[in-house]
Amino acid sequence: MKIHLHFRLAVFVISLSCIYVAPLFAQVCSQEYSHLNLENHDKEYPPTQRVAHVRSDRNLILDWALPTEFTEIYPFLGQDYQLAEHEGIDFIHSNQLVPQVSVRSVADGTVVYIRHDCPQSSLFEPNSSRRDCGGDWGNHIVIRHPNGLFTRYAHLYPDSIQVKVGQRITRGQELAKMGNSGRSDTRHLHFELGVAIKINPCAPAQSFHYVYNPATYLQWHNTQ
Ligand SMILES: [Zn+2]
Repeated sequence: MKIHLHFRLAVFVISLSCIYVAPLFAQVCSQEYSHLNLENHDKEYPPTQRVAHVRSDRNLILDWALPTEFTEIYPFLGQDYQLAEHEGIDFIHSNQLVPQVSVRSVADGTVVYIRHDCPQSSLFEPNSSRRDCGGDWGNHIVIRHPNGLFTRYAHLYPDSIQVKVGQRITRGQELAKMGNSGRSDTRHLHFELGVAIKINPCAPAQSFHYVYNPATYLQWHNTQ
């Protein structure tokens, strides 16, 4: 009986350390990539992502939430197995009477990458400050979802990221505020859906191996 109790205690302690310690380890990087300490910003590769044809063995139909409110949309552009021309959907919010716009996770998942420290020169004019920062994505977050899909939330407002690498996220949870950092011409969220073999949390911005057109999978009924 006593051994049984000890066993249960040990399992409890190990479970706790997995939940609370693993995310802490996940954030420790020997070098943080930032525009402040990158001598040669060519190290940050601009995206090179191919469009994937939808795989029948991968369940892409999830109960996706929309990642933000918006006033206009600029669509995903690309053909199967070619390099994408526009690798995600832009959710543009051009109403200047709305000072801040929340960006939310479309589904449950885990934060696997955060790029921050990218500046922006204004909110509604083309950004003129370090447009190449974060591999053109500016401040951005990547989330891994349970079915092996990844989502990316790009051009976020400086210092608005509210989550950490390793943190578990629920559908609809606020991640950051919409911004104009990186290669961006007005306040918008560039949202990508893709697959990746591995995302290194301690490396410069990284492309997905393939991207899908998110419009195929988002629930549009409350937007059109
Ligand atoms: Zn875009």
